[in-house]
Amino acid sequence: MIDLYSDTQTRPTPGMRAAMAAAEVGDEQSDSDPTTLALCARVADLLGQKAGVFMPSGTMCNLVAILVQTRPGDEIIVDDQSHIYNTEAAGSAAIGGVSVAALKTPAGVYTPEAFEAAIRVPARTAPRSALVSIEQTTSFSGGSVWDLADMRRIRDIAKTRGLKAHIDGARLLNAVAATGIAAKAYAEGFDSAWIDLSKGLGCPVGAVLCGDRDFITQAWRWKYRLGGAMRQSGILAAAGLYALDHHVDQLARDNAHAALLRDRIAGAPGLAIAAGAAQSNILCFSVAPLGVTAARFAEACLAQDIRVRAIGAHEIRATTHLEVDEPGILRAADVIRAEAERLSALRD
Ligand SMILES: *Cc1c(COP(=O)(O)O)cnc(C)c1O
Repeated sequence: MIDLYSDTQTRPTPGMRAAMAAAEVGDEQSDSDPTTLALCARVADLLGQKAGVFMPSGTMCNLVAILVQTRPGDEIIVDDQSHIYNTEAAGSAAIGGVSVAALKTPAGVYTPEAFEAAIRVPARTAPRSALVSIEQTTSFSGGSVWDLADMRRIRDIAKTRGLKAHIDGARLLNAVAATGIAAKAYAEGFDSAWIDLSKGLGCPVGAVLCGDRDFITQAWRWKYRLGGAMRQSGILAAAGLYALDHHVDQLARDNAHAALLRDRIAGAPGLAIAAGAAQSNILCFSVAPLGVTAARFAEACLAQDIRVRAIGAHEIRATTHLEVDEPGILRAADVIRAEAERLSALRD
């Protein structure tokens, strides 16, 4: 089976498992797990931030960043396709008491102007705009890569207007692989930023949230409160360190695979692929012109051992990762193309 459902489908490699087994461990809660400390320092350095904290998930990174940098009744500004808005069970509202202004975007990327226009004018009657989040790369809108200059303008506008600026960098390193721009250049001057270890990097679990020392002190308090503090987490952190040594270079290959898939299915009847699709390791396309639902289309592919994900009524998402090689991409493309041709012929 070629599994393009998500880059979360990767399993730890034998090398990663060996690194985990050999990890030196202590007690994370008392800052004495050396491997976790090493991972946090390494990611903080990668992102050009002062400090980091190991989290069980990216979802907790987003939630904790919001909890630290807002108060109940505040508003956060995100894009309408974002993970924070759509797939975190409204944690920011349920736990943080904040409302969400979700900016309409074609591909998860809003303009600095749209952001500035969304900032509330201070008034007794209005929520306070407290935090802006940028998803680099975008997830449910097809792996779009944010332009560095736009990110910096948004960061600067946020600073001027008294908002905190956050990067949901679940796939930040895929953006780095796509552009050659360093992760610390993207994260420079942002108040909080994180990367996921369990996506393209191939770890079983984990993410590292970074910011300045005061932010991390407060983030630790929320991590503890939410039940995210661990004990011998070095077992997991070792996987992260292993991934940073061995699984970063292959992200460029993953990105290239998404573009290859796009090129191989482009022009198939009934598949609508947006211009600028597959900028990183995610390809989204619509099957609406075929007159079938995405769920039906995905089912037909699965019957031929190609797993893609229905992410909307007619939207399909295919995500490449380290367990998918070029022959796998070519086979996936053949199946998707043949299915489109078959359904299209039925309609004629
Ligand atoms: C996966 C993802 C998250 C959440 O990370 P988990 O580790 O799955 O909790 C947040 N944001 C984006 C953009 C993601 O793709």
